[in-house]
Amino acid sequence: MPYLLSLDQGTTSSRALIFDETGQIVALAQHEFPQLFPQSGWVEHDPWAIWHTQLTSLRQALEQARLTLADIAAIGITNQRETTLVWDRQTGQPVYNAIVWQDRRTAAHCDQLKAQGLEADFHARTGLLLDPYFSGTKLAWILDHVPGARQQAEAGKLAFGTVDSWLIWQLTEGRVHVTDPSNASRTLLFNIHTGQWDETLLAHLHIPASLLPAVQPSSSLFGHTDASQFGHACPITGVAGDQQAALFGQACHQPGMVKNTYGTGCFMLMQTGADAKASQHGLLTTRAAQTGPDAAYALEGSVFVGGAVIQWLRDGLEMIPTAGAVEALAASVPDSDGVIFVPAFTGLGAPYWDPYARGGVLGLHRGTTKAHIARAALESIAFQSAELLLAMQNDAGQTVTSLRVDGGATANTLLLQLQADLCGLPVIRPKILETTALGAAYLAGLTVGIWDNTDQIARQWQTDRVFEPAISADQAGQRMARWQQAVQRVMHWA
Ligand code: ADP
Repeated sequence: MPYLLSLDQGTTSSRALIFDETGQIVALAQHEFPQLFPQSGWVEHDPWAIWHTQLTSLRQALEQARLTLADIAAIGITNQRETTLVWDRQTGQPVYNAIVWQDRRTAAHCDQLKAQGLEADFHARTGLLLDPYFSGTKLAWILDHVPGARQQAEAGKLAFGTVDSWLIWQLTEGRVHVTDPSNASRTLLFNIHTGQWDETLLAHLHIPASLLPAVQPSSSLFGHTDASQFGHACPITGVAGDQQAALFGQACHQPGMVKNTYGTGCFMLMQTGADAKASQHGLLTTRAAQTGPDAAYALEGSVFVGGAVIQWLRDGLEMIPTAGAVEALAASVPDSDGVIFVPAFTGLGAPYWDPYARGGVLGLHRGTTKAHIARAALESIAFQSAELLLAMQNDAGQTVTSLRVDGGATANTLLLQLQADLCGLPVIRPKILETTALGAAYLAGLTVGIWDNTDQIARQWQTDRVFEPAISADQAGQRMARWQQAVQRVMHWA
């Protein structure tokens, strides 16, 4: 029986999962690592903590499954995206901590680039917005602030990478410096249309091209584990950023297929195939995982506060003992009795993009109970996701026929029913919810012939439960309109 090892390097933990050829999980190990907050708005990771937790998880997963690397047909890697590392090509030592995607230190640099009138150019070439979220300005920050870094970079002595590149560098003992298009497309340096690092953008950000990894398809041979260190030369044959890996793991291979991941935030991606759809509604255009010579694209939107609103009910208000308890409380009332909760704690993303919006609970009256507020909080996750879906349908000019879901909050069946009602679509929860790791395993397995094509993978994907809409399109429209009114009331607040 061939096995695939998937390394899932996330923001708070590194995980390793082993899958068999039917896509079932055989073993799972996970290790958390410290989050570093050196200043307000700054978020860093120790690159060695990322690697060591990943390596420990890898070894433990193998032990659990009573396997060795020699039993693994191929390794797939999926990772927190945008997080930026720079290391010395000779010594392998990072010159600075990893600057994490959440880090806002380059906000002023982004404002400056916008003031120079460069946003339209960045947007046209990368599909992204000028925001500190993406890697480019983080990389520029390291070159400008670490003593000697710029000179060394100009002398070709340094390597830049997102977390996938860093892990592959470690696994190959520094022999291979690569990434895939799904990760490259989050850097602000990669032209998603030509599939090349973009010289104009590199010039805007003063970044020497010698820093950059080679970009190759997500499903291809990236390198082998170093036999002297790992005991076996195992091929690394699948790489994708976490959200694109999840899209692949959800078998959303055909244009128009959409997945939504409900975690701390929510990430919705629509596969658009060979078409790079430009968004009129504040969505990002990005590269999807690429299995052959041809580029694949996706539209992406995110909700900043998704499951986090439930954490706030638990920790901020102490209204519920556990996140899971929200379902029973919310289900104890038939509706929110007119209460609408807009959890714009950190502003609003697509389609509003208002950093000055703040949270609000509207429509309170003397009969309002905590159950109504809990229900409104849960509904807010579904409202925000439904708005992303609407934006996607408008941008893509395509009707969506169902929504595939995953992530921690999909344990909540009331949430998924609300989502089906608001979107007017079947919401489908798969049997395997580890879609991110599974996506990386599928990409790796395709390269080595465990699966012949994506159709075979799509046939393997299995439904756990389907949630059908239970209200009319009119009712859904009325509820969405009421939500949109509430959003207008909390915008431009701070
Ligand atoms: P992440 O990968 O972002 O850490 P997870 O996929 O682990 O997130 O999901 C955790 C999030 O889901 C938390 O924000 C939590 O509040 C929320 N959550 C967990 N269980 C439930 C539930 N039953 N109902 C609603 N939200 C939940």
